[in-house]
Amino acid sequence: MNYKIALIKGDGIGPEVVGEAVKVMDAIGEKFGHTFEYTDILMGGCAIDEVGRSYPEGTAEKCRACDAVLLGAVGGPRWGHSTDPDKRPETALLSIRRDLGLYANLRPAALRPALAESCPLKNDKGIDLMIVRELTGGVYFGKRDRYQTEDRGEEASDLMAYSEKEIERIGRRGFELARLRGKKLASVDKANVLETSRLWRQVMHRLAEEYSDVEYEDVLVDNAAMQLVRDPGQFDVVVTENMFGDILSDEASMITGSIGLLPSASIGDAAPGLYEPIHGSAPDIAGQDKANPIAAILSVAMMFRYSFDLPAEARAIETAVDAVLNEGWRTADIAKPGDAVVGTLKMGELIRAKL
Ligand code: NAD
Repeated sequence: MNYKIALIKGDGIGPEVVGEAVKVMDAIGEKFGHTFEYTDILMGGCAIDEVGRSYPEGTAEKCRACDAVLLGAVGGPRWGHSTDPDKRPETALLSIRRDLGLYANLRPAALRPALAESCPLKNDKGIDLMIVRELTGGVYFGKRDRYQTEDRGEEASDLMAYSEKEIERIGRRGFELARLRGKKLASVDKANVLETSRLWRQVMHRLAEEYSDVEYEDVLVDNAAMQLVRDPGQFDVVVTENMFGDILSDEASMITGSIGLLPSASIGDAAPGLYEPIHGSAPDIAGQDKANPIAAILSVAMMFRYSFDLPAEARAIETAVDAVLNEGWRTADIAKPGDAVVGTLKMGELIRAKL
Protein backbone atom coordinates (compact mmCIF):
# COMPACT_ATOMS: atom_id res chain seq x y z
CA MET A 1 0.00 0.00 0.00
CA ASN A 2 1.21 3.53 -0.76
CA TYR A 3 0.47 6.31 1.73
CA LYS A 4 0.84 10.03 1.16
CA ILE A 5 2.20 11.84 4.21
CA ALA A 6 2.29 15.60 4.70
CA LEU A 7 5.34 16.63 6.73
CA ILE A 8 5.15 19.87 8.68
CA LYS A 9 8.60 19.92 10.22
CA GLY A 10 8.17 23.40 11.69
CA ASP A 11 10.65 25.14 13.97
CA GLY A 12 13.33 24.42 16.59
CA ILE A 13 13.74 20.69 17.15
CA GLY A 14 10.76 19.97 14.85
CA PRO A 15 12.86 19.12 11.77
CA GLU A 16 15.26 17.01 13.86
CA VAL A 17 12.61 14.78 15.44
CA VAL A 18 10.51 14.53 12.26
CA GLY A 19 13.68 13.49 10.41
CA GLU A 20 14.08 10.47 12.71
CA ALA A 21 10.37 9.65 12.59
CA VAL A 22 10.46 9.58 8.78
CA LYS A 23 13.42 7.20 8.80
CA VAL A 24 11.47 4.89 11.13
CA MET A 25 8.47 5.08 8.79
CA ASP A 26 10.65 4.06 5.87
CA ALA A 27 12.09 1.16 7.87
CA ILE A 28 8.53 -0.02 8.62
CA GLY A 29 7.70 0.38 4.94
CA GLU A 30 10.55 -1.96 4.02
CA LYS A 31 9.65 -4.50 6.67
CA PHE A 32 5.91 -4.62 5.98
CA GLY A 33 5.84 -3.79 2.25
CA HIS A 34 4.38 -0.24 2.31
CA THR A 35 5.65 2.86 0.56
CA PHE A 36 5.38 6.41 1.85
CA GLU A 37 5.34 9.51 -0.32
CA TYR A 38 6.20 12.73 1.54
CA THR A 39 5.10 16.31 0.87
CA ASP A 40 6.90 19.04 2.83
CA ILE A 41 4.60 21.79 4.03
CA LEU A 42 5.81 25.12 5.35
CA MET A 43 4.05 26.27 8.54
CA GLY A 44 4.94 28.16 11.72
CA GLY A 45 7.83 30.52 12.38
CA CYS A 46 9.77 29.29 9.34
CA ALA A 47 6.75 30.22 7.18
CA ILE A 48 6.66 33.72 8.69
CA ASP A 49 10.31 34.11 7.70
CA GLU A 50 9.78 32.81 4.18
CA VAL A 51 6.36 34.03 3.13
CA GLY A 52 5.33 36.50 5.84
CA ARG A 53 2.62 34.42 7.55
CA SER A 54 2.60 31.36 9.79
CA TYR A 55 -0.24 29.65 7.91
CA PRO A 56 0.42 30.16 4.22
CA GLU A 57 -2.40 30.12 1.69
CA GLY A 58 -3.22 26.57 0.59
CA THR A 59 -1.80 24.78 3.67
CA ALA A 60 -5.03 22.91 4.45
CA GLU A 61 -5.58 21.94 0.77
CA LYS A 62 -2.08 20.49 0.58
CA CYS A 63 -2.73 18.50 3.76
CA ARG A 64 -6.09 17.28 2.47
CA ALA A 65 -4.33 15.82 -0.56
CA CYS A 66 -2.49 13.48 1.83
CA ASP A 67 -3.60 10.50 3.94
CA ALA A 68 -2.09 11.81 7.18
CA VAL A 69 -0.06 14.72 8.52
CA LEU A 70 3.05 14.48 10.70
CA LEU A 71 3.93 17.68 12.53
CA GLY A 72 7.13 18.44 14.47
CA ALA A 73 6.51 21.65 16.44
CA VAL A 74 6.06 25.31 15.66
CA GLY A 75 7.01 28.49 17.43
CA GLY A 76 9.89 30.01 19.32
CA PRO A 77 10.91 33.25 21.04
CA ARG A 78 11.86 34.87 17.73
CA TRP A 79 8.22 35.01 16.68
CA GLY A 80 6.54 35.33 20.07
CA HIS A 81 5.70 38.98 20.29
CA SER A 82 3.71 40.07 17.26
CA THR A 83 0.13 41.23 17.77
CA ASP A 84 -0.62 40.38 14.13
CA PRO A 85 -2.21 36.88 14.22
CA ASP A 86 -0.69 36.02 10.82
CA LYS A 87 2.72 36.48 12.35
CA ARG A 88 2.11 34.24 15.36
CA PRO A 89 3.02 30.54 14.95
CA GLU A 90 0.18 29.40 17.27
CA THR A 91 -2.35 30.86 14.82
CA ALA A 92 -1.27 28.19 12.36
CA LEU A 93 -1.94 25.41 14.89
CA LEU A 94 -5.46 26.65 15.62
CA SER A 95 -6.15 27.20 11.92
CA ILE A 96 -5.08 23.77 10.79
CA ARG A 97 -7.16 22.08 13.53
CA ARG A 98 -10.19 24.09 12.43
CA ASP A 99 -9.67 23.65 8.68
CA LEU A 100 -9.10 19.90 8.86
CA GLY A 101 -11.99 19.44 11.33
CA LEU A 102 -9.69 17.85 13.92
CA TYR A 103 -12.04 17.95 16.88
CA ALA A 104 -10.58 15.06 18.89
CA ASN A 105 -7.11 15.16 20.40
CA LEU A 106 -5.92 11.82 21.77
CA ARG A 107 -3.08 12.06 24.23
CA PRO A 108 -1.88 8.82 25.76
CA ALA A 109 0.21 9.07 28.92
CA ALA A 110 1.79 5.70 29.51
CA LEU A 111 4.71 4.99 31.76
CA ARG A 112 7.14 2.90 29.70
CA PRO A 113 8.22 -0.10 31.79
CA ALA A 114 11.95 0.69 31.46
CA LEU A 115 11.38 4.18 32.84
CA ALA A 116 9.16 3.28 35.79
CA GLU A 117 11.74 4.76 38.16
CA SER A 118 11.56 8.18 36.44
CA CYS A 119 7.92 8.62 37.50
CA PRO A 120 7.98 11.21 40.27
CA LEU A 121 4.95 9.62 41.97
CA LYS A 122 4.35 6.53 43.97
CA ASN A 123 2.34 4.19 41.76
CA ASP A 124 1.83 0.50 42.18
CA LYS A 125 -0.72 0.06 39.38
CA GLY A 126 1.40 1.53 36.57
CA ILE A 127 0.13 4.40 34.43
CA ASP A 128 -1.60 3.90 31.11
CA LEU A 129 -4.24 6.49 30.44
CA MET A 130 -5.55 8.30 27.40
CA ILE A 131 -6.82 11.86 27.51
CA VAL A 132 -9.38 12.69 24.83
CA ARG A 133 -9.45 16.45 24.52
CA GLU A 134 -12.05 18.40 22.52
CA LEU A 135 -9.95 20.48 20.15
CA THR A 136 -12.03 22.85 18.06
CA GLY A 137 -14.52 24.39 20.50
CA GLY A 138 -14.75 26.08 23.86
CA VAL A 139 -12.93 29.15 25.03
CA TYR A 140 -9.96 28.83 22.66
CA PHE A 141 -12.30 29.22 19.69
CA GLY A 142 -14.90 31.55 21.22
CA LYS A 143 -15.41 35.21 20.49
CA ARG A 144 -12.77 37.37 22.15
CA ASP A 145 -13.02 41.01 22.95
CA ARG A 146 -10.95 43.79 24.46
CA TYR A 147 -12.28 47.24 25.12
CA GLN A 148 -11.88 50.33 27.27
CA THR A 149 -14.43 50.96 30.03
CA GLU A 150 -15.21 54.27 31.62
CA ASP A 151 -14.40 53.40 35.19
CA ARG A 152 -12.62 49.99 35.28
CA GLY A 153 -9.80 50.55 32.81
CA GLU A 154 -9.35 48.06 30.00
CA GLU A 155 -11.51 44.93 29.99
CA ALA A 156 -11.17 41.67 28.06
CA SER A 157 -13.42 38.66 27.58
CA ASP A 158 -13.21 35.20 25.99
CA LEU A 159 -16.45 33.38 25.32
CA MET A 160 -16.74 29.69 26.16
CA ALA A 161 -19.49 27.99 24.18
CA TYR A 162 -20.32 24.35 23.42
CA SER A 163 -23.16 22.83 21.44
CA GLU A 164 -24.79 19.47 22.11
CA LYS A 165 -23.46 18.28 18.76
CA GLU A 166 -19.87 19.17 19.64
CA ILE A 167 -20.14 17.47 23.02
CA GLU A 168 -21.77 14.35 21.61
CA ARG A 169 -19.17 13.71 18.91
CA ILE A 170 -16.22 14.01 21.33
CA GLY A 171 -18.12 12.06 23.99
CA ARG A 172 -18.66 9.20 21.55
CA ARG A 173 -14.93 9.17 20.75
CA GLY A 174 -14.27 8.82 24.47
CA PHE A 175 -16.69 5.92 24.90
CA GLU A 176 -15.46 4.16 21.73
CA LEU A 177 -11.83 4.40 22.88
CA ALA A 178 -12.75 3.17 26.34
CA ARG A 179 -14.37 0.13 24.71
CA LEU A 180 -11.09 -0.62 22.92
CA ARG A 181 -9.08 -0.22 26.14
CA GLY A 182 -10.00 -0.80 29.79
CA LYS A 183 -13.75 0.03 29.45
CA LYS A 184 -13.56 2.93 31.91
CA LEU A 185 -14.36 6.54 31.08
CA ALA A 186 -14.00 9.61 33.28
CA SER A 187 -15.64 12.77 31.98
CA VAL A 188 -14.08 15.94 33.36
CA ASP A 189 -16.10 19.14 33.72
CA LYS A 190 -16.83 22.02 36.08
CA ALA A 191 -20.58 21.47 36.29
CA ASN A 192 -20.80 23.06 39.76
CA VAL A 193 -19.96 26.44 38.16
CA LEU A 194 -20.16 26.51 34.36
CA GLU A 195 -23.29 26.26 32.21
CA THR A 196 -21.26 24.72 29.35
CA SER A 197 -20.23 21.98 31.79
CA ARG A 198 -23.83 21.34 32.84
CA LEU A 199 -24.76 20.80 29.19
CA TRP A 200 -21.62 18.67 28.80
CA ARG A 201 -22.68 16.46 31.71
CA GLN A 202 -26.26 16.15 30.45
CA VAL A 203 -25.06 14.90 27.04
CA MET A 204 -22.47 12.57 28.58
CA HIS A 205 -25.11 10.98 30.83
CA ARG A 206 -27.29 10.32 27.81
CA LEU A 207 -24.35 8.62 26.08
CA ALA A 208 -23.47 6.66 29.22
CA GLU A 209 -26.84 4.90 28.99
CA GLU A 210 -26.10 3.92 25.41
CA TYR A 211 -22.59 2.66 26.30
CA SER A 212 -23.68 0.79 29.40
CA ASP A 213 -20.76 -1.67 29.05
CA VAL A 214 -18.36 1.19 29.88
CA GLU A 215 -17.86 2.14 33.54
CA TYR A 216 -18.56 5.89 33.62
CA GLU A 217 -17.87 8.66 36.14
CA ASP A 218 -18.05 12.46 36.30
CA VAL A 219 -15.01 14.20 37.77
CA LEU A 220 -14.77 17.92 38.50
CA VAL A 221 -11.69 19.41 36.88
CA ASP A 222 -10.04 20.54 40.11
CA ASN A 223 -10.47 17.07 41.56
CA ALA A 224 -9.16 15.54 38.29
CA ALA A 225 -5.97 17.63 38.59
CA MET A 226 -5.51 16.34 42.13
CA GLN A 227 -6.37 12.70 41.34
CA LEU A 228 -3.84 12.69 38.49
CA VAL A 229 -1.01 13.24 40.94
CA ARG A 230 -2.56 11.28 43.81
CA ASP A 231 -3.41 8.08 41.94
CA PRO A 232 -2.97 8.27 38.14
CA GLY A 233 -3.36 4.48 37.82
CA GLN A 234 -7.11 4.84 38.48
CA PHE A 235 -7.74 6.37 35.04
CA ASP A 236 -8.23 4.61 31.72
CA VAL A 237 -9.82 7.09 29.27
CA VAL A 238 -10.48 10.70 30.31
CA VAL A 239 -12.64 12.89 28.07
CA THR A 240 -12.84 16.64 28.50
CA GLU A 241 -13.29 20.02 26.85
CA ASN A 242 -10.54 22.00 25.15
CA MET A 243 -8.95 24.12 27.89
CA PHE A 244 -9.28 21.57 30.71
CA GLY A 245 -7.76 18.98 28.35
CA ASP A 246 -4.89 21.26 27.47
CA ILE A 247 -3.91 21.64 31.10
CA LEU A 248 -4.63 18.09 32.32
CA SER A 249 -2.81 16.43 29.42
CA ASP A 250 0.35 18.40 30.18
CA GLU A 251 0.05 17.39 33.81
CA ALA A 252 -0.46 13.75 32.81
CA SER A 253 2.58 13.88 30.54
CA MET A 254 4.90 15.01 33.31
CA ILE A 255 3.96 12.12 35.56
CA THR A 256 5.34 9.72 32.97
CA GLY A 257 8.84 11.19 33.18
CA SER A 258 9.51 13.28 30.09
CA ILE A 259 7.70 15.44 27.65
CA GLY A 260 10.05 14.03 24.97
CA LEU A 261 8.33 10.63 25.08
CA LEU A 262 4.69 11.35 24.43
CA PRO A 263 2.88 11.34 21.10
CA SER A 264 -0.54 12.68 20.20
CA ALA A 265 -3.16 12.32 17.50
CA SER A 266 -5.72 14.87 16.34
CA ILE A 267 -8.54 13.38 14.34
CA GLY A 268 -11.89 14.32 12.88
CA ASP A 269 -14.53 12.41 10.94
CA ALA A 270 -12.50 12.39 7.71
CA ALA A 271 -8.83 11.99 6.73
CA PRO A 272 -6.24 13.29 7.17
CA GLY A 273 -5.52 12.97 10.87
CA LEU A 274 -2.64 14.96 12.30
CA TYR A 275 0.03 13.35 14.46
CA GLU A 276 2.59 15.20 16.56
CA PRO A 277 4.72 14.94 19.66
CA ILE A 278 3.16 16.81 22.57
CA HIS A 279 6.31 18.84 23.15
CA GLY A 280 7.05 22.20 21.59
CA SER A 281 9.98 23.38 19.51
CA ALA A 282 12.42 23.36 22.48
CA PRO A 283 14.48 26.33 21.26
CA ASP A 284 16.93 25.81 24.15
CA ILE A 285 18.24 22.58 22.63
CA ALA A 286 17.45 23.07 18.93
CA GLY A 287 20.15 22.20 16.41
CA GLN A 288 22.32 20.42 19.01
CA ASP A 289 21.39 16.77 18.39
CA LYS A 290 19.96 16.64 21.93
CA ALA A 291 16.21 16.29 21.31
CA ASN A 292 14.50 13.04 22.21
CA PRO A 293 12.90 11.75 18.97
CA ILE A 294 10.76 9.11 20.74
CA ALA A 295 7.59 11.25 20.98
CA ALA A 296 7.73 11.91 17.23
CA ILE A 297 8.46 8.24 16.49
CA LEU A 298 5.55 7.09 18.69
CA SER A 299 3.36 9.63 16.87
CA VAL A 300 4.01 7.58 13.73
CA ALA A 301 2.83 4.49 15.63
CA MET A 302 -0.41 6.34 16.45
CA MET A 303 -0.76 7.31 12.78
CA PHE A 304 -0.49 3.65 11.76
CA ARG A 305 -3.04 2.62 14.37
CA TYR A 306 -5.66 5.38 14.01
CA SER A 307 -5.37 6.59 10.39
CA PHE A 308 -4.23 3.47 8.55
CA ASP A 309 -5.57 0.67 10.77
CA LEU A 310 -2.14 -1.00 10.83
CA PRO A 311 -1.90 -2.21 14.46
CA ALA A 312 0.96 -4.66 13.81
CA GLU A 313 3.10 -1.88 12.35
CA ALA A 314 2.22 0.37 15.31
CA ARG A 315 3.14 -2.35 17.79
CA ALA A 316 6.44 -2.99 15.99
CA ILE A 317 7.45 0.63 16.60
CA GLU A 318 6.36 0.61 20.25
CA THR A 319 8.19 -2.68 20.87
CA ALA A 320 11.36 -1.31 19.24
CA VAL A 321 11.23 1.80 21.45
CA ASP A 322 10.77 -0.28 24.60
CA ALA A 323 13.61 -2.63 23.57
CA VAL A 324 16.04 0.29 23.18
CA LEU A 325 14.99 1.78 26.52
CA ASN A 326 15.27 -1.65 28.19
CA GLU A 327 18.87 -1.84 27.04
CA GLY A 328 19.51 1.36 28.98
CA TRP A 329 19.93 3.85 26.12
CA ARG A 330 18.75 7.34 27.06
CA THR A 331 18.64 10.82 25.57
CA ALA A 332 19.69 13.56 28.00
CA ASP A 333 16.13 14.43 29.06
CA ILE A 334 15.46 10.95 30.46
CA ALA A 335 18.98 10.08 31.65
CA LYS A 336 20.12 9.52 35.21
CA PRO A 337 23.77 9.82 36.24
CA GLY A 338 25.71 6.88 34.80
CA ASP A 339 23.26 6.18 31.92
CA ALA A 340 24.47 5.79 28.32
CA VAL A 341 23.42 9.15 26.83
CA VAL A 342 22.89 9.39 23.07
CA GLY A 343 21.73 12.18 20.76
CA THR A 344 18.71 12.45 18.47
CA LEU A 345 20.32 10.73 15.49
CA LYS A 346 21.75 7.82 17.47
CA MET A 347 18.46 7.21 19.32
CA GLY A 348 16.65 7.09 15.96
CA GLU A 349 19.26 4.69 14.57
CA LEU A 350 19.00 2.36 17.61
CA ILE A 351 15.21 2.19 17.27
CA ARG A 352 15.44 1.44 13.53
CA ALA A 353 17.97 -1.28 14.19
CA LYS A 354 15.36 -3.06 16.36
CA LEU A 355 12.88 -3.15 13.49
P1 NAD B 1 8.78 22.90 24.90
O1 NAD B 1 8.03 21.62 24.92
O2 NAD B 1 9.32 23.31 23.60
O3 NAD B 1 10.03 22.78 25.92
C1 NAD B 1 9.87 22.61 27.34
C2 NAD B 1 11.12 21.95 27.92
O4 NAD B 1 11.16 20.57 27.54
C3 NAD B 1 12.42 22.56 27.39
O5 NAD B 1 13.38 22.55 28.42
C4 NAD B 1 12.86 21.62 26.29
O6 NAD B 1 14.25 21.58 26.07
C5 NAD B 1 12.33 20.28 26.79
N1 NAD B 1 11.95 19.41 25.67
C6 NAD B 1 10.86 19.55 24.88
N2 NAD B 1 10.86 18.59 23.95
C7 NAD B 1 11.95 17.83 24.15
C8 NAD B 1 12.49 16.69 23.50
N3 NAD B 1 11.90 16.12 22.44
N4 NAD B 1 13.64 16.18 23.97
C9 NAD B 1 14.25 16.72 25.04
N5 NAD B 1 13.79 17.80 25.71
C10 NAD B 1 12.65 18.35 25.26
O7 NAD B 1 7.84 24.02 25.53
P2 NAD B 1 8.06 25.58 25.64
O8 NAD B 1 9.48 25.87 25.99
O9 NAD B 1 6.98 26.04 26.51
O10 NAD B 1 7.76 26.14 24.19
C11 NAD B 1 8.76 26.45 23.20
C12 NAD B 1 8.06 26.87 21.93
O11 NAD B 1 7.30 25.79 21.41
C13 NAD B 1 7.05 28.01 22.15
O12 NAD B 1 7.16 28.88 21.06
C14 NAD B 1 5.71 27.33 22.15
O13 NAD B 1 4.66 28.17 21.71
C15 NAD B 1 5.95 26.21 21.17
N6 NAD B 1 5.05 25.07 21.34
C16 NAD B 1 4.60 24.49 20.20
C17 NAD B 1 3.80 23.36 20.28
C18 NAD B 1 3.34 22.72 19.00
O14 NAD B 1 3.90 22.99 17.96
N7 NAD B 1 2.34 21.86 19.04
C19 NAD B 1 3.44 22.83 21.52
C20 NAD B 1 3.95 23.44 22.68
C21 NAD B 1 4.76 24.57 22.57
